[in-house]
Amino acid sequence: MKETGYNLNDLLDNLSSHCHEHGMRITPQRTAVYELLLQSKEHPTVEMIHKQLRKKFPNVSLDTVNRTLHTLADLGLAEVVPGSGGAKRFDAPANEHQHFRCVKCQNIIDFDYDEFENIKLPRKIREKFTIMRKSLYLEGICENCRSKNNN
Ligand SMILES: [Zn+2]
Ligand SMILES: [Zn+2]
Repeated sequence: MKETGYNLNDLLDNLSSHCHEHGMRITPQRTAVYELLLQSKEHPTVEMIHKQLRKKFPNVSLDTVNRTLHTLADLGLAEVVPGSGGAKRFDAPANEHQHFRCVKCQNIIDFDYDEFENIKLPRKIREKFTIMRKSLYLEGICENCRSKNNN
């Protein structure tokens, strides 16, 4: 999630219109989960959102948070960051961006890659499929972990 390029109120409006369209109730908890996800820079796990949410809703269950995050993903308002291993990580991208995951500290770092975002896909693919999104996922060792290893 980038610092700029979105307005929280607009996105919350977006949530209510999406919920409305799908005949879902907008509960304060759902709104709070979405808000936490939008404000987080960490690509949080279900557990991380749950921990935050409990400050406001002490009785909310992990399962509720889990279901809410998956509902948001179904509505196209959240995404599961690609990649294998470890707990599922969520993102609420307002802008197209790519991900790097450190295999040591499990940090997920956003980056932009214009050449990739504007890539012209092979004709064979364009003819066969309607592409709705594409992502580049890199896995490796981050700067921090690399410098720790060298010391
Ligand atoms: Zn991201
Ligand atoms: Zn790292």
